[in-house]
Amino acid sequence: MTDAFVLPPPPQPSVAVAGETRRFAVRRIFCVGRNYADHAREMGADPTRELPFFFCKPADALVADGSTIPYPPQTRDFQHEVELVVAIAKGGSNIAREAALEHVFGYGVGIDFTRRDLQQEAKDKKRPWDWGKGFDQSAPCSAIHKASEIGHPAEGRIHLAVNGEGRQDGDLNELIWPVADVIAFISQSMALAPGDLIYTGTPAGVGPVVAGDVLTCDVAGIATLSIAIGK
Ligand code: MN
Repeated sequence: MTDAFVLPPPPQPSVAVAGETRRFAVRRIFCVGRNYADHAREMGADPTRELPFFFCKPADALVADGSTIPYPPQTRDFQHEVELVVAIAKGGSNIAREAALEHVFGYGVGIDFTRRDLQQEAKDKKRPWDWGKGFDQSAPCSAIHKASEIGHPAEGRIHLAVNGEGRQDGDLNELIWPVADVIAFISQSMALAPGDLIYTGTPAGVGPVVAGDVLTCDVAGIATLSIAIGK
């Protein structure tokens, strides 16, 4: 501890990297809203009429694979959204769609946990989504699998089960805005930076979980994630 800070600096959020002892240090978490047509429809939106939109979670909302998290406070409708997660290695502004995948370090699978009742209240009252989306332990993420080893998956099953029963089942080829477009769009508005994660949106079948549930997720046969809900 030096004289630089009046309190000890907070721990650096990070996620595991498959096949490595070193971890991926996380800077920010960007999330895409409504990026699969079936999910947009189940949320009452028209998937053909919207440009992508974004929200953020704090990096310290990350939760590691195999964790048990508490049922969060102030909700009666705590819902899962399984998502492909993109880890950014190289930042930039106004990144061209054609060059966007060169900025990717790797891919994982995550859950965009949502206090749906608080999100709905925010929508109704035209308030920010943060309390519905960016709360403590709202961002489980698997180990990141390096693009240098697995390539850039453009298709493949994305799946979530609760207590072994399938709830969400989609394919990455159903993304309305694929990864390259998402990177291009975000970088037009904010400079992306190494360490950023992007949760790319969820397929249909979102729904509530309760204490004692165990969620298992996988994406494209490359990444898996298991999270339990405690009391
Ligand atoms: Mn989501």
